[in-house]
Amino acid sequence: MFPDFDARLSRYAYLVSLLPQKIIRDLGLNLELRRRAIASCTPYVSHGQHGALVLSNLDEEVSRKSIVDLTGSETEFERMKNFYNLSRVFAEQVWDSMLEPLLAKDEMAGRFKDNEISREAWRSLVEEPLGNAIERYFRNDLVRGLVFTDAKIGVFTYPHDPSLVQNRCFLYHLIGNKTGEWKVPVGGMGAVSSELEQTARKAGAEILTNVNVHALNVTGKTRSVEFRVDGKLETVDARFLLVNFGRNVLARFTGRLFQPDRTDEGSVFKMNMLLCRLPQLKAKKYLATEAFCGTFRSDEGYEQMNASYDQASGGRLPENTPCEMYCHTLTDESILAPDLHERGFHTMTLFGLDSPWSLFARDNANMRREAEKRFLASINQWLEQPIEDCLAVARDGRRCIESKSPVDIEDALGMYHGNIFQNAPTFPFAARKEQVGTWGVETEFENVFLCGSSALRGGAVSGIPGHNAAMKVLEAINKAPKTER
Ligand SMILES: Cc1cc2nc3c(=O)[nH]c(=O)nc-3n(C[C@H](O)[C@H](O)[C@H](O)COP(=O)(O)OP(=O)(O)OC[C@H]3O[C@@H](n4cnc5c(N)ncnc54)[C@H](O)[C@@H]3O)c2cc1C
Repeated sequence: MFPDFDARLSRYAYLVSLLPQKIIRDLGLNLELRRRAIASCTPYVSHGQHGALVLSNLDEEVSRKSIVDLTGSETEFERMKNFYNLSRVFAEQVWDSMLEPLLAKDEMAGRFKDNEISREAWRSLVEEPLGNAIERYFRNDLVRGLVFTDAKIGVFTYPHDPSLVQNRCFLYHLIGNKTGEWKVPVGGMGAVSSELEQTARKAGAEILTNVNVHALNVTGKTRSVEFRVDGKLETVDARFLLVNFGRNVLARFTGRLFQPDRTDEGSVFKMNMLLCRLPQLKAKKYLATEAFCGTFRSDEGYEQMNASYDQASGGRLPENTPCEMYCHTLTDESILAPDLHERGFHTMTLFGLDSPWSLFARDNANMRREAEKRFLASINQWLEQPIEDCLAVARDGRRCIESKSPVDIEDALGMYHGNIFQNAPTFPFAARKEQVGTWGVETEFENVFLCGSSALRGGAVSGIPGHNAAMKVLEAINKAPKTER
């Protein structure tokens, strides 16, 4: 991203949770997914003093003490354990089914009838808006907000949203490999892609990149793709066609109507930075290396996010923009060249919430500039010196910072309205009768399957839709008469 510096910072996705161990094993991927020592750090001001709520991935005592410091009692900590137990119970019942055909909702619900905790998990996570459970469990606004952000990452929603898109988004952030822990792929996200590439090539795949697709023919006896590569027009015929761009792009190529609803709109502002040093916190008790090692949260109070949602819904950039920031190099320095590491450089990634596509659609360049300012101001309120002063500077004098609005994300990747999941995430069971027993990858076209995020149960770096599309192909081959296999 910053050509003067050897830092392999992923422009978009950077953490892995939803890639099933089964897929890693099946494909023989050699990946190291590293645990972050700190889960999150949320700075706050109390009685005029700067403090921070720090949750540790390694030491429960650190988290307990930090919650007691914030709230004055153990209650919120115990409630947090009980609340997250609901998603653990949910993950236990559901995770393995992600690589199986879709169950009917009733059948899935049947797995949650054994005891009161299971019944509560189903009710709180699937039947009722997530806001009910959060408000039932927690009293502290900062804790409520911290819990709710997982329901907002990428989608435009609020706690009592009747669409339940907040519940679906929350579940995707909490069920990965039954723990919901987000880990750092050592070597960066590029290391994951490289492993997949090598595995595919070893299995005989031919991979072309920088390909400009011109046309898809999906209605004939065989499917075909017309594309331009290295200036040459080529056509490939195929019995099966697996697509990982979104339903929006597929609709465009096939001349069909794409009918999204409001929950499909993307709502993320992404910033990447290269720093020549880490900024220090106003909360002196915490080292920058602790604070930024996990998710550093700013303006993510529960009521603050209700306000920012309302402001963004009204067509305005929120006054206080909720966001979270994360320093990859504190967990995995291998993405930096050794000399940069020795000089104290770090990468920093910011993920901004309540930034729906509609805010940027009319005047993207100006809104991007304004949003960048507000997100930086949000972070700076907790820092001794502005983060801008810590940015590395390229040879041409430009600071190493890059911002992407949902409009930019759609322009670059085709993701509908910049939705990082391609479209609204789905519940991990069939929403309609006709989906029961399918793999969630089927399209209206014969032998054309979705193998990316827009499949049911897609969303994130997971490989799940790819696995399920492959199973669908095998199923179709096995069902065909022997002569056609
Ligand atoms: C800012 C951001 C941060 C994220 N962070 C994380 C994270 O930390 N962890 C995580 O698990 N997930 C994260 N995600 C989500 C995750 O990256 C996506 O859900 C996932 O990569 C989508 O995979 P896919 O295969 O469906 O689509 P993509 O990886 O988007 O692949 C689709 C491809 O189709 C190409 N394409 C589109 N239109 C055309 C066309 N007309 N012709 C030819 N090619 C075309 C696109 O260029 C793209 O390369 C993030 C996403 C974003 C945007």
